[in-house]
Amino acid sequence: APGAHLIGLIGAGIGPSLSPALHEREADALGLRYQYRRLDLLDLGIGPERIGDLLAAARLTGYTGLNVTHPVKQAVIAHLDALAEEAAVLGAVNTVLFKGGRAIGYNTDASGFARSAMGGLAGAALDRVVVLGAGGAGAAVAHALLGIGAGHVLVLDLDTDRAARLADALGAHFGRDRIGSGPADALAGAVAGADGLVHATPTGMAAHPGSAVPSGLLRPDLWVAEVVYFPLETALLTAARAAGCRVLDGGRMAVYQAVDSFRLFTGTEPDADRMLRHFDEL
Ligand code: NAD
Repeated sequence: APGAHLIGLIGAGIGPSLSPALHEREADALGLRYQYRRLDLLDLGIGPERIGDLLAAARLTGYTGLNVTHPVKQAVIAHLDALAEEAAVLGAVNTVLFKGGRAIGYNTDASGFARSAMGGLAGAALDRVVVLGAGGAGAAVAHALLGIGAGHVLVLDLDTDRAARLADALGAHFGRDRIGSGPADALAGAVAGADGLVHATPTGMAAHPGSAVPSGLLRPDLWVAEVVYFPLETALLTAARAAGCRVLDGGRMAVYQAVDSFRLFTGTEPDADRMLRHFDEL
């Protein structure tokens, strides 16, 4: 029915995701009829190769749209009719909107980090930024940084080829002189000459404790942003605060990607500050 929205989250092991609560509470506050369901590949007993079937089923059964997460952010693309620019450049989709008989892919991780950085790092130098981790999060962050005017972004990853492929894709879009790539062990030298560092590997999550950044690299004139948001306060952020760095946690990126997805799904502007407060309560 018009005005009623059915949204799904597709991924593997998404039980702990805060997205359902975040979206539904905001819809309640706005007086919208809105249901946000988990479609967990593990519960459904199907593999990521069945993403096309799941997408077709959601479209047929009247879903408004989907959020898509690990491990199907790339695989979903083959089943879409159109891609927003940032999703095409990144080769990754986290939001699918069914509209006018078409399935359109977006990437609100990129816009989410951009908004988070513009608020939480306002006025910070962006001449040289290092992004550690070239996976889905690192790609979105690097795209966002270039989009908000970073002079140069260096992407480092244990998987050097992955970092090089990302730099190649972003370089074609934003200019090859604005992005470079390298191995993870180039971190110390890179950070020494950087204004800021974004950590975009899974290190620091409960399942991957620790920090991928040696504390000795942190200094007061370096800002440090984190993409991990579960927990919000990672070992890296604690060390960065202790070293006197300006810091940005991963929470705002997570909330703003939900803000941008919600707007795409409903055509209604959510109250981002209210969603930030909801997130803090969850
Ligand atoms: P991913 O598996 O796609 O990519 C992680 C990358 O990090 C891989 O390429 C891996 O080789 C690299 N890596 C791992 N350890 C490394 C190290 N020590 N040094 C250098 N590179 C290393 O994962 P992802 O989807 O990019 O997610 C990464 C993290 O970002 C997760 O914790 C995820 O929860 C978080 N995330 C947060 C948001 C948000 O909104 N805040 C959004 C997306 C992802």
